[in-house]
Formats: sequence, C-alpha cells, structure tokens
Amino acid sequence: MKPEKKSVPMRQQPADERIRNFDEVPLGYSEEESLSEAFRCLQCVNKPCVNGCPVRVNIPDFIKALREKNFQKAVDIIRETDMLPCVTGRVCPQEEQCQAFCVLNKMGADPISIGRLERFLGDWALAHKKKQEYTADPDTTIGAKNKKVAVVGSGPAGLTCAAELIKKGYAVTVFEGFHKLGGVMVYGIPEFRLPKAIVAKEISVLKDLGVQFMTNVLIGRTLTIEDLFKKGFNAVFIGAGAGLPNFMGIPGEHLNGVYSANEFLTRVNLMKAYKFPEYHTPVKRGERVVVIGGGNVALDSARTAKRLGANHVYLVYRRSEQEMPAREEEIIRAKEEEIEFYFLTNPVKYIGDEKGFVKQAVCIKMQLGEPDASGRRSSHPVQGSEFTIDVDEVIVAIGNTPNPILRITTPGLKTKKRGEIEADENGKTSLPGVFAGGDIVTGAATVITAMGAGKRAATAIDEYLRG
Ligand code: FAD
Ligand code: SF4
Repeated sequence: MKPEKKSVPMRQQPADERIRNFDEVPLGYSEEESLSEAFRCLQCVNKPCVNGCPVRVNIPDFIKALREKNFQKAVDIIRETDMLPCVTGRVCPQEEQCQAFCVLNKMGADPISIGRLERFLGDWALAHKKKQEYTADPDTTIGAKNKKVAVVGSGPAGLTCAAELIKKGYAVTVFEGFHKLGGVMVYGIPEFRLPKAIVAKEISVLKDLGVQFMTNVLIGRTLTIEDLFKKGFNAVFIGAGAGLPNFMGIPGEHLNGVYSANEFLTRVNLMKAYKFPEYHTPVKRGERVVVIGGGNVALDSARTAKRLGANHVYLVYRRSEQEMPAREEEIIRAKEEEIEFYFLTNPVKYIGDEKGFVKQAVCIKMQLGEPDASGRRSSHPVQGSEFTIDVDEVIVAIGNTPNPILRITTPGLKTKKRGEIEADENGKTSLPGVFAGGDIVTGAATVITAMGAGKRAATAIDEYLRG
C-alpha cells in the first residue's frame, strides 16, 4: 500500500492568540494522529533515516513499536540513545537530519514526521512515568565500582554524559553554576518552544537513575577542576556550553535598551521577567524592537519581544532568507506572528537620546558575494545605502563563545583562539582525566550534537577509568 503523500499536520495555537501568551505553540500529536503518521513509515530495512540522526536513534524500530501501541517499548528504544526525547522531539532540526534522509522524500511524499512521533512518545512516557530503575550490566561495570565522575554543566552534553556513566555503574555528580538545571534548554530556548516543566521532568528521570546534582556551584570560582580531583573524583567531563555573547563592536552598543540575546532571554526564561513584578527580575518591554541575527536565538528573541507587547519587531539579518540558519518551521511561525524581516541589512551604529537610551538603529543594505568559510555566501555593504529605523530596544543575537573562566583557572587546559576547549572526537582534552564536549568544544551548535558529544565522552571516560 502506498503511504499518504502528506504527513499528518500538527495542531498549533493560532498566531493572534499565541502572541499574547507564553504557552507552547505546537500542540503535539494525539495518539490517533501519531498512529496515522507511524503507519506511513515503510520500515526500510537499510534504515536511511538512522544515518541522519547524530545519536543514531533506532527510528524504524521505535516506529514499529508505536504502531503496535507498545508505547513503553518505543520509548525504551529511543532512550537507548537519546535520554531527552521530549526535548529533541521539539527542538532538533529534523528537517536537516533524520527526516532529510527519509526515503519518502525521493518518492515525492512528505518525510515521516519523526520528531513529532518522538515528542508524542516522550510526552507519553512522562505522563505515565514510573520511577526509572536501572540495573547496570555487570560486564560494563567492571572497574566502575567506587569510581566517581564530576560533570560540569547541566545542559544536554552534561546530562547525556551523566546518564550514560550512571548506566555504566559510576557515581556521577553534576555541578551547575545556575540555580536551575538544563542549560540553554532552560535559560535560552523560550517556554513557547520548550516548556520548562518538561525539561525538569526529563531531568527527574536522571535523578531517579541516581545522578546527583549540585546547583549554584560555578566551577572555576566555587571549586576548580583541580579541587574536583582532590575531592576524589576520578574523571571530569566539561559540558559548560558557550554562554558568552558576541557583540559587533559598533558605536552605541553601550546604550540603555541594547541587550545581548543571552541577557534578554535569561531574564525572561530563567528569571521569569515576563511575570514581573510577581517575579523580581524586570526586562524592558520595547514598543519598536530591532533584533540582529538570523539564527534560532534571533527568532526566539524576536518572538519573545512580540509576546512582551512590542508593536513592531524588526529582524535585521545581513544575508538573505535562504542563508538563515534558523529552523524553517520557526521562520514560518515568526512570519505568522508578524515579525518584520529586513534581509540583506546590517546595523552600523545606534543613536541614543539625551538620557542615554537607544532611539535609532542606523542600518546599511548588504549584497551577497562568494561563499565564506562557513559555506554560506558572504555579505558586503552597499555604499551609500544607509537608512534609519526608530527603535526603543535592540537585541543582539549574533552568536556566543565559551566563558573564559575554566580556561583561566585550569592550568594546562588547551583552548582554541575563540576560547573553545581543544578536544578530540571522543572529548579527550590536553589534561589527563579531563574530557569535554558540546558547545564548549564546537562553539554554539545544537542540542543533539551536544548530546552526541556527551555520549561519546562517556564511552571514552569509561575506557579511561578501566585503564
Ligand atoms: P549548554 O546548554 O549551554 O549548558 C551548559 C551549562 O553549563 C549551563 O547550564 C551553564 O550554566 C553551565 N555552566 C557553564 N559554565 C559553568 C561552570 N564553570 N561551572 C558550572 N556550570 C557551568 N539547538 C537546537 O538543537 N534546536 C534549537 O531550536 C535551538 N534553539 C536555541 C535557542 C537559543 C535561544 C539558544 C541560546 C540556543 C539554541 N540551540 C538550539 C542551541 C542549543 O541549545 C545548544 O547548542 C545546546 O544547549 C548546547 O548544549 P551544552 O550542553 O553544550 O551547553
Ligand atoms: Fe520510515 Fe522514512 Fe526511516 Fe524508511 S527512511 S524507515 S520510511 S522513517
């Protein structure tokens, strides 16, 4: 039987409603919708979709179990390689990964909505959550006894590494600098794309497995890496992310009302500034907001500003829409929410009023040139094309680099020019017993690549600790 050409659509909040709240936009598949979508799968023997998944989730097998309505088995299959299915089902760029490899594309049909099925199962598992108990396989735990591993950072890299190591029988403690666990999943990606209660529940699965968590411990300040070894940890995994925002270095970036996306989103997501004064952290609620950048962070900032009540949110991006690194479905949603796009445009300076508050962004038109080191076409200013946008808030979302604190406080830890830790493909750094992975090694990337790095490092740590 030929599969339906079109995938089952996902219901979502209408744009005019959702810009007035922070609730999740896509509403998820029902059981019936999941089953209809799952029955479109051809169960290909050579599993091309799996090759597109950075952590190699066994996609056809979990879809098969879903079709049989054996939801627990389906979740267990996913969790063999992906401990955060509710998260990855929501934020992974499946259209460039597993779904891009789905054989249905070649047949002129929509690929299987693998992410939506994963999200359905992850949510089902949390709704029917049993305490996770894991008896480590004795073969894999030889040498694990009495060995302790410290994980720095509770983002997807750290959490995955912790989960893999606890399953191998090690005692694992995660040290997190913030008061909340989850890394960018909690302080960066907004509630309307990834509800924080879901991240907390996913983390509770790791707590059930026995992972210890210590919040408000900034490694490099509260304790150093060296202190961790002195405290009896036998190995350390650094998954501290890339949390230091970049600025363009143009005039006026110091003005009041100019934020880094990092600060803006942290205030809103982590510190709940959208509920001020119920929560104590304020945030500026601009009426005319300019967001600089073209990635997920820029779109999240723009859509957040809209929800805070802005009349106009302009997204200024130096390349064209084709080059935007943001997820396509989020670009579509941003357009539905009336975010106004200025493509092929770059700011050159910001002008302030007499009190030092930003009032104008001076921008210049850009044109595309040859591909640059990133593979995308470079962009160049068109001389004499400057124009001005009246604004009362600017959010700069042009990328992040790692915070230098660990580099500065860890003698012998080799880093690259922009501060990323030097590590091989298994996370091995220049220091014995110290491993690293995720954004702190690659620079800002994705949740799933960070998870893949955490997983590979866990294997390498296991090998290291067995001598
Ligand atoms: P992080 O998630 O950054 O976690 C690092 C953790 O370490 C943090 O909790 C931090 O507080 C802690 N830490 C740092 N230094 C220390 C220290 N010295 N001591 C103790 N703790 C420390 N990816 C996608 O796949 N899809 C998306 O849709 C997507 N959208 C995004 C939207 C935004 C706004 C942002 C900012 C990123 C987005 N990303 C997205 C990227 C993705 O979230 C990151 O690539 C991923 O979270 C990196 O994981 P990580 O574990 O390496 O680091
Ligand atoms: Fe199913 Fe597509 Fe994977 Fe084939 S490639 S098994 S159709 S998801």
